[in-house]
Amino acid sequence: MLSRVELSERMGFTVAAMTNIVRSLLSDGFIEEAGSSGNTGGKPRTLLRIKGDSAYAVGVSVDLESMSFVLVNLAGDVVDTLPTRASPQGDETLAAEIARGVDDLLERTEVPRDRVIGVGIAGQGPHGRSATGRASAGPYADQWLDDEVGHLVTRGLDLPVLIQNDANAVAAGEFSLSLDARTSGNFACVYLGESGLGSGIFTDGQLLLGSNSYAGAIAHLSIDVDGPECFCGSRGCLELYSAPRSIIEAVRAHDEDAADDAIGVAASGPVTMSDVARVYSAARSGHPYAAELVSDIARYVASASATMATLLDLNLIVFSGDGFLGIEELCLTAARDVAGRFMEVGARPGFAVRMSQLGPGNVAAAVGAAVGALEALPMQVPPLIAASGGA
Ligand SMILES: [Zn+2]
Repeated sequence: MLSRVELSERMGFTVAAMTNIVRSLLSDGFIEEAGSSGNTGGKPRTLLRIKGDSAYAVGVSVDLESMSFVLVNLAGDVVDTLPTRASPQGDETLAAEIARGVDDLLERTEVPRDRVIGVGIAGQGPHGRSATGRASAGPYADQWLDDEVGHLVTRGLDLPVLIQNDANAVAAGEFSLSLDARTSGNFACVYLGESGLGSGIFTDGQLLLGSNSYAGAIAHLSIDVDGPECFCGSRGCLELYSAPRSIIEAVRAHDEDAADDAIGVAASGPVTMSDVARVYSAARSGHPYAAELVSDIARYVASASATMATLLDLNLIVFSGDGFLGIEELCLTAARDVAGRFMEVGARPGFAVRMSQLGPGNVAAAVGAAVGALEALPMQVPPLIAASGGA
């Protein structure tokens, strides 16, 4: 909660201009007065806070196998989530299932549709932010989660849609909602999803996009220059050792050769997170091959994250995504070992590593996507009748 004077200082407006803005937001019902500040020595200042139930956004994270849905209010609080749903292939089917999930979530929470600013969708795809308006068509890109999906969802729901890269959505959400990320302004979110690894990076308080909007492709940071060839053209990329696809390929090869202590993943077919969870569980139970594999994943991810932190002078790394579920402590310990060595030699004071505070696994990307929608989409909800129009 802040006063008009504090708001004007933070936003660089005069107190008079801020008072006018606040009057308008109060009369529209988007903020409310919440008591006054005491003990400041001068005249008590009226404190203001965002009125959470004045507007909402739905966040959706779309991965290879599953989708997560969350409803977030204007204050950034998660109001409700749906149980994870399957993520279907094909733009039209995918858009229809996203629209169905949004409808179900709004129905069960009884939030009126005219209070919903829009839908944020995070997944593999464009790294910049791309918004589609209400029920309008537009130029389409040719990517898996792209503007075509956004337009189809917009048409199905008659709500604006914002498409975001999943790792960037987590980073932007952390910057908006977590004090340490906001204070730092120089941090990265490493996202280990079903489809692989990515990262969203903030430098000097800005999301880093790069010349092709592909900044943060930590999956293709080489950790072995003599390693196997990667589909990106490089060798020994982190992706080849730590992505779910690579983990399952390694375990399948192991299981074929070692029938006595097979880990028991599906011998063929699509890679599933339940098989990845089986590998993590075997590692926790002391299966020698699984334990070594998972320990290596943690060390590689920690090392690549530390390299990125050194390269870009970051002081916070945040882990998120379904791929970390069940190995959080192992990965945090490996990363903190690196941080400890930084401290020993006097480098990177204050460097910290933690799990995302937005939500567990891929839910973090859904929350980040909703926050992105609240911040970037035009406010098209009607004003609430305000209790106070005071200055
Ligand atoms: Zn690569």
